[in-house]
Order: sequence, then C-alpha cells, then structure tokens
Amino acid sequence: MALIPINIKDGSFKQEDVIVGIDLGTTNSLIAIIDSNTKKPKILKANFDDILVPSIIYLGKNKQTIVGNKAKKHLIEEPQNTIFSVKRLMGKSYKDVVENITTKSYKIIDDNNDSLVKIEVEGRYYTPVELSSYILKELKNIAETELNNKISKAVITVPAYFNDAQRQATRDAGKLAGLDVLRIINEPTAASLAYGIGIEQNQNQTVAVYDLGGGTFDISILKINEGIFEVLSTNGDTNLGGDDFDHEIVKYWIENFFDNQNLKINNFDMQKLRIEAENAKKYLSEHENFSIDISINSRITKLELSLIKLEELIKPIVDKTIKSCFNAMNDAGLKNSDIDEVIMVGGSTRVKLVKNEIKKFFEKKELHDKLNPDETVALGAAIEADILAGNRKDILLLDVTPLSLGIETMGGLMDVIIPRNAKIPQSIAKQYTTSKDGQSNLRISIFQGERDNVSFNRKLGEFNLTGIPAMPAGLPKIEISFMLDADGILKVKAKELRSSVEQKIEVKPQYGLTDEELEKMLLDSLLHAGEDVKYRSLTEAQTEAEQLIYTTLRFIEKNKNELSNDEIEQTNNFVEQLKNSIKSESKDEILKAHDILNDFTKPFAERLMDKAIAFAIKGKKID
Ligand code: AMP
Repeated sequence: MALIPINIKDGSFKQEDVIVGIDLGTTNSLIAIIDSNTKKPKILKANFDDILVPSIIYLGKNKQTIVGNKAKKHLIEEPQNTIFSVKRLMGKSYKDVVENITTKSYKIIDDNNDSLVKIEVEGRYYTPVELSSYILKELKNIAETELNNKISKAVITVPAYFNDAQRQATRDAGKLAGLDVLRIINEPTAASLAYGIGIEQNQNQTVAVYDLGGGTFDISILKINEGIFEVLSTNGDTNLGGDDFDHEIVKYWIENFFDNQNLKINNFDMQKLRIEAENAKKYLSEHENFSIDISINSRITKLELSLIKLEELIKPIVDKTIKSCFNAMNDAGLKNSDIDEVIMVGGSTRVKLVKNEIKKFFEKKELHDKLNPDETVALGAAIEADILAGNRKDILLLDVTPLSLGIETMGGLMDVIIPRNAKIPQSIAKQYTTSKDGQSNLRISIFQGERDNVSFNRKLGEFNLTGIPAMPAGLPKIEISFMLDADGILKVKAKELRSSVEQKIEVKPQYGLTDEELEKMLLDSLLHAGEDVKYRSLTEAQTEAEQLIYTTLRFIEKNKNELSNDEIEQTNNFVEQLKNSIKSESKDEILKAHDILNDFTKPFAERLMDKAIAFAIKGKKID
C-alpha cells in the first residue's frame, strides 16, 4: 500500500517532487528518472513507443506541432516543414552555420548579421530555443503521463564543448517548456555517472568516455576515486557524428550508382537517400554487405554498400575523433595505457570501425559498453537529478572549463584569471590598478582563449568600471572576480576596493564558437607558443618603458625648480632615446634604454625624496 502525504494547511495531496534527467540529443532525445522501487535509473517511454524520441519537429499548417516518431514521417513528404538537428543551431548566428546549410532541407533565414539564427516555416519564424522547447515539452508529457504526476524540474545534458551561449539557450528552452532547469551537465560526465554507480567505493579508476552520437562528439578523461568523479580533460567536436557517416554514404551512392552527369536530385529523393544511408550503416554494424532497390527520379536503382567500403568512407571522420582523444590525453597528462576503462556512449559507437580504432588507441582488449549507448547519458542525468534531490550524498561532481578565461591588460596582453581545465564551479579574484593619474574609468574586456595576444583570442564581452575617485596611478585597488558556475556561465565583477565602486556583468555571448574555431584556438596556442613568449616579453618591456617615460616626465614637471638645467636636459635626451627604442621593437634595446634612464634619474629622485622626508619630520618631537 502506498502512503500519500496530505498537506494539512490546504488539504491537497502532496506528491513527491520528481526531478527528471533529460538527454536533449541532436538525433534522439530521452527522459529518465530514478525508479522509486529499484532505486536504479530508468528511461521513460510513451505507450508502445520506442524509448528514443527522434529530435524532429513537424510544423504543420494551423500552427500544428508534432514531435518525435510521428514527425519523422513528414521528413520525406514535407522536408521544408520538418526540422531536424536543431541542436546544431543552438546559440549560433547565421554566419556560424552558413557553411552547413546545404545539408538542411528547411529554411534558415539569411539575415547576414550576427544575431541568432531563425528558421522560417509557413511564413512563421522560429528560434532554435523555441524548437528545442517543443522536444522538451514532448518529453515532459511522456514523463507526466507515465508517472501521473506534474514534472517541473530537470537536469539537461549538453556536449562538453557547448559554450555559454549554447548552455544558456538550452536552459531557456527548458524554461519555455515549463521546466526549472536545475543543472546543465556535460554528456560524458552524465555517462560516467551511469557507469560510476556500479563502481565500488574503494576503487580508483581513470576512465575515458568516448561519446559519438548523431551530430556531436565528445571525449572526456575522468578520474573516479572513492565516489568522487573528477573530469581531468575534455575535447571534441560539436559538428561531427553519425550524420556525417550518412552524408559520406549518400555522396558515394550519387557518385557511383547514378550515371547521368546532369542528375538533379530533389529534396524528396535526397531525404530518401539519407534515410537509406542510415539504414545501410546500421545494417553493416551486424553484417558484411547491404543492398536495396530504390526509386529515384522515378527510376529504380540498385544501391550497394559493403562493410569494407563503408569503413574506407568513414575512416577520415573516425581519425578526427582519434586526434581529439590524443589531445585530451595530452591535456590530462596521461599515457594511453593509464586508462583503466573506456566507456562507449552514443548510437554511433555501434559502428565496428569505431570500436576497433578506439580499442587500438587505448590499448584495451575490452571496451565498457554494457549499457545501451543510446540510454547512458539520460540514465546519468537521472542520477545527477537524484544527487540534486539530496538522495545521494556519496557522489560529488567536478567538471572543467575547456578554454582559459581572462582579461586584457596593458599592451593587449591576455591575463588569465581562470585557466583552461580548471574545475568548475570556480571563483577566482585578482587585483589590478590604474596606469594614469586621476583615471576615473577602467575598461574591462573579457576574453577566452590560450594566446598571449588578446587579438587572437575570442572576446566574450566588455564593460566600464566608472566613478573611480581621482587617485595617483597605481593607487586604486581594483579587484576583478570571475565566477564560473556549474553550468559554465561566467559572471564578472570589478570593484575598486578603496571606494567600493563596483560593476558587474554576466557574460552571455550572442553566438558560439564553431568546432573548427575551437580546435584552431587550441592548436594555435601550441603552434605559436615560442612566438607568444617573445610577444609577451616585448610587450611587457614596451609597457614598462611607456610607464617610466610617463612617470619621469611627470616628475620633471613637478620638480623642475629643484633640478639643474643639465639634469633636465640629459633626462629629456634619455627619454627620447627610450621612445626611439620602443619603436625599434627590440626587447634588448628597450631594456638597455630603460635602465640608462632609470639609473640616471634614480639618484636625484632619491635626493628629492630625502629632502621631502627631512622636511616632513622637521619640527616633530620624537620622544
Ligand atoms: P545518438 O545521437 O546517440 O542518439 O546517436 C544517433 C546516431 O547513432 C545516428 O547517427 C544513428 O544513425 C547512429 N546509430 C544508431 N544505431 C546504430 C547502429 N546500429 N549502427 C551504427 N550507427 C547507429
């Protein structure tokens, strides 16, 4: 018999607040909870339906929206009204996605600017956030029907590479679907939780989570130690997955099975080929050869694909994922043989070539693939939801940020505040000061990236700290705090400590990084490491020289009556020399000229200082 608690104030029945775990995937989405009887995570499904809800939305006339399997049927008949892979558009502008647009059969608005993308269907405009919210609503309905209970709280997973804008867009989609999103977590972290639950408390393990889905790829290196999960490094590609395998197959079929040079394949037939390509790929996960008769341009054509050919077609894509694994291992500072377990997640890890290449790379005989790779992430999200509900105090979750975060300092140098791979949530504060007397404003520009020269990094935002009371240069104490929350969203605060003037912003970049940009940023930092060191030391020397010129000229101006003409003239000469050396771009020249000026002015600066001190203590009584 079940006990139902009653609220004695208003007489209502109080149901347990269930927090659901949601895997909002590019291809398929799932919703899971912890079963109240078994205490194990389980996937919820609509009656008689498949557990996977295809992340497909059909937008019919009269504002009719259909999500999932029923929407999938419209992919062929009405491709322009049927939206798939919307996750790839989350938090992105038209410019970000323009190169991939040929693969989409629906209309993405070309407004040729930096604002977020919109999709046009039947004269109405939809944002990716709105479209994702339809998928989330569908999942919410499934859970509410199955549990006979209202659902209002959720944990949603995102790829590890999602930036602030993409995470925020996911959170907004949840809100629009009527869900309070308690936590956004990385998919590989959720997957590791799904496996971690079986790990005995006293076991220490280093785990690689390889997650290859329909449209995204992530690799994470995790340390699991006495119930604590720590992400050592992450890497991946937000635009790589099983869809790309399908694309290669379609290309191969078009090039080799249709002889008409001017062959024009309409949208309708293209979708047919895409669906058959996916079927062929799945079939070849179990068999050696695939063939099918298909009607294209009203002619029947026999399409074939062997396992050997498939592997040849997709090898370059699989190799890209191996390169990411290599980078993740480098970042974690581990050898391949240090990995105890390799966890396979995502539908595309069923592909034989993928399994074989990963086994080879991690030098493992067996891969960890006991759980259904489609379900693992959602099951982990349900476990995280259980942790947030306070039911599992034994597990702690640590995550890392994939790129360094910092501010621009003098000379355009990047000053890192939260380093790459730092654990999140994370809060770090650093102190800075002004460079000019009486400076009342300070512009704070926030950057993300690994290069010393900020112009090579990515600007996240900027703001002005205004109203700093007039003080000599170097006197204000400006504390800049970076607070990166568990969802990877950054809040920046600047405070002048003497006057308590403060300003803050939340950084929500308007659009995201493409995978190529991210990979390039990391690669560039390695390629240009030597150059960057040179750039930093030259810029620092130039900045110091400029500061010395500024303070020297100010000193001369203030004390001209105390100095001889010779001293003033010679100082001005050395200032000119230093100015010229700055233009030379030679660090050694600058340092030499800097020292000459400094050595020359030091004695009379000290002389004046002694005089001032003597004056200050004159007349004072010393007991
Ligand atoms: P996910 O995003 O994790 O749902 O993965 C979806 C991807 O897995 C799609 O590209 C599917 O075509 C692919 N997939 C699903 N089942 C198989 C299979 N048996 N063999 C190969 N790929 C599969």
